[in-house]
Amino acid sequence: MRKLNFGAGPSVLPESILRQAQDELLSYENKGFSIMEISHRSAIFEELLNNAKKDALELYGFDSNDWEVIFTQGGASLNFCMVAMNFSQDNKPCEYINTDVWTKKAYKEAQILGLNPVYVASSEEDNFSYIPKAEFSDNASYAYICSNNTIQGTQYHEYPDSKAPLIIDASSDFFSRKMDFKNAGFIFGGLQKNAGISGLACCFIRKDMIELSRSKNIPSMLKYSVYVDNNSMFNTPPTFALYIFAKQMQWLKDMGGLDNINKKNIQKAELLYSTIENISFYTLHAKKEDRSLMNVSFKTPTSELDKLFVSESEKAGMIGLKGHKLLGGIRASIYNAQNFKNVETLAEFIKDFANKHA
Ligand code: PMP
Repeated sequence: MRKLNFGAGPSVLPESILRQAQDELLSYENKGFSIMEISHRSAIFEELLNNAKKDALELYGFDSNDWEVIFTQGGASLNFCMVAMNFSQDNKPCEYINTDVWTKKAYKEAQILGLNPVYVASSEEDNFSYIPKAEFSDNASYAYICSNNTIQGTQYHEYPDSKAPLIIDASSDFFSRKMDFKNAGFIFGGLQKNAGISGLACCFIRKDMIELSRSKNIPSMLKYSVYVDNNSMFNTPPTFALYIFAKQMQWLKDMGGLDNINKKNIQKAELLYSTIENISFYTLHAKKEDRSLMNVSFKTPTSELDKLFVSESEKAGMIGLKGHKLLGGIRASIYNAQNFKNVETLAEFIKDFANKHA
């Protein structure tokens, strides 16, 4: 019996993908070997990789004349320093909007590199419960944001304008919706939430940003243009993670693309938010206008009751509902692979728990 998994990542995968991976574990497409047992230079693997890249661009509607898709290892986090190394320019500030942990970590890497990054806005004074409005300077090296803040459950519903290239950490809302990407030059994310498994990041890089990277004197494995020039195979890539990513791209296409998955995500989020909002026993962390469609962070009146909520939910077959240690409380993650029925079950549990303990 599979549990209902509301974990923030690594998180639930579509069951059909797990079953296909199981079926093909010993023999990929009936060829007599596993995808993990063949060369990344083989035609079979290259075809898988190239199809996945094509699907990724197609899902977002990005033109391959303007964008390249690359894959980096080291999760989303390695990109925190790579962004600063590849895209900073002399005498142009590296600008960040501070929406907590994931932007702070990225900012810190720029600091370590001696680039003197600046925060142009922050919602720290209200425990990051909202997305702050900000203006980036016209002469910035880049304008950096985190699209969805996995811990607090806040999300940009419109990206900010910027003259400088917008850099978007989309780790926790990757492939969940189409957006107006404004002046985006680089969009990246770890795949373990909406599009695969951990360790691997997918990055969309605009062609002019590749040239900027190419002009830099930095080590090969940290240089984006090296990934572009080598089809993300400067070294041996994590082939199984790419295989799952390829399956995930196909699954999203079969689901009718990002607009359709977004509709489903909205339905799940609406059910959960309206359930919680209607029970005064609970408090939602994020301000209404900036609520995330991916992570719903909330609390009961006391930390003891939060703990009880989590332990009782586990007895009821649900996992992953404990809030992040920085925020406490409860967090339900409802990424692409989470189905509506599971969210209905959670909503009923939320009502029952309040009835019992209010
Ligand atoms: N950015 C965001 C928004 C995240 O949620 C996470 C992981 N939870 C990361 C970056 C870091 O990802 P990774 O662990 O793959 O480096």
